[in-house]
Amino acid sequence: MKYYIGVDIGGTNIAAGVVDETYTILASDSIPTKAPRSAEEICDDIVALCKNICQKAEVPYDGICGIGAACPGLIKDGVVTFASNLGFENVPFKSILESKSGKRCEVCNDANAAALAEYAAGAGKKYHSLVAVTIGTGVGGGIVLNGRIWEGFNGAGAEIGHLVTVPGGRLCSCGNRGCLEAYCSATALINDTKEAMINNPNSKLWEVSGGIDHVTGKHAFDAADQGDVIAQNVIKRFIKYLSIGVANIITLLQPEVVCIGGGMSKEGDTLIVPLDKLVADNGVIKSLASKPKIKAARLFNDAGIVGAAADIMLDDLG
Ligand SMILES: [Zn+2]
Repeated sequence: MKYYIGVDIGGTNIAAGVVDETYTILASDSIPTKAPRSAEEICDDIVALCKNICQKAEVPYDGICGIGAACPGLIKDGVVTFASNLGFENVPFKSILESKSGKRCEVCNDANAAALAEYAAGAGKKYHSLVAVTIGTGVGGGIVLNGRIWEGFNGAGAEIGHLVTVPGGRLCSCGNRGCLEAYCSATALINDTKEAMINNPNSKLWEVSGGIDHVTGKHAFDAADQGDVIAQNVIKRFIKYLSIGVANIITLLQPEVVCIGGGMSKEGDTLIVPLDKLVADNGVIKSLASKPKIKAARLFNDAGIVGAAADIMLDDLG
C-alpha cells in the first residue's frame, strides 16, 4: 500500500490527512492558518502537521510518496498567482513545499480539488469525466477530464459560478451581471428566502427559520417540504436557474457526471430529481442515446484533503 498526504489550506484553518491508495483518510488534524504570513512559515507548519498526522496514522513520514495541497485562488503550474484569503501573489508554493518537506508535491485550487475528490472517490468514481458545481457562499467549479483537472491555460478555467445565466441580471461579486453565482449560491438563496418572507408574513418560512436574521440555505427546502407554497416557489426558481448552468455545462462538455456539491447537496433527491428533469426538459440536446448523470456530492468536509491527495496520487498511478 502507498501513502500520500492531502493538505487543505483555508483562510482560517489548514487541515491535513494521511490518505492511502483507496482514498481512505487514516488520520487527520488541523492547525490555524494565521494568514497573512509568508509561504515559508506556512509550509514549515504544514510539514510539522504532516509529521504529526503520520505518527497518528502509524505510517512513517519516510513512507509518504507525495504531498498534495489545495488552496483558494488562482493557481498555475504550482504557482499561486493570486489568493486574496492568504495574501499570496505569484508565490511558487509547490517548490517551497517541496524544499521544506523533502517530498514530491502538487498544489491545486480548492474547487478543483473538490472535483478531483468526487472523481476519484465520490460521485464520479468509475467514470472518466466529471464536472463539479460546488454551491457555497459563492458557486465554484472543477472540470476533470480523463483524470486531469482542466484549469485553463491561465489557471482561470472552470469558473462555473460566473457563467452568464440571466443577461443583464443581478450584479455579481465579479462585477458582471447575471452570473449563476448571483442566483444559485447559498448567499443568493438566503437573500431570496428573506425577500419571500418579507413579502409573505404568513409563510411557514417564519416559523421554520425562527426569524429573518436566522435564515440559512436549508430553511427554504425545509418549509417547501412542509408544503409551504412560498418556499416551494423560492426553491423552484433556484433550481430553474441552476438547471440553466448545468445544461450549459452539459452542452459544452458532455461529461459522464455532473456533481452538485456544497452543503445543499445534502438535500439529495429533493434537489437532484427536479434539477435532472428541468435539465432534460429545457436545456440539452434531446436525441442523445446516453446522457450525463447528475449526482449529489458524497465527500463533504473531506473533499479538500482527499482531492489534494488525489492530485498527486493520480500523477503517480497514471
Ligand atoms: Zn460573476
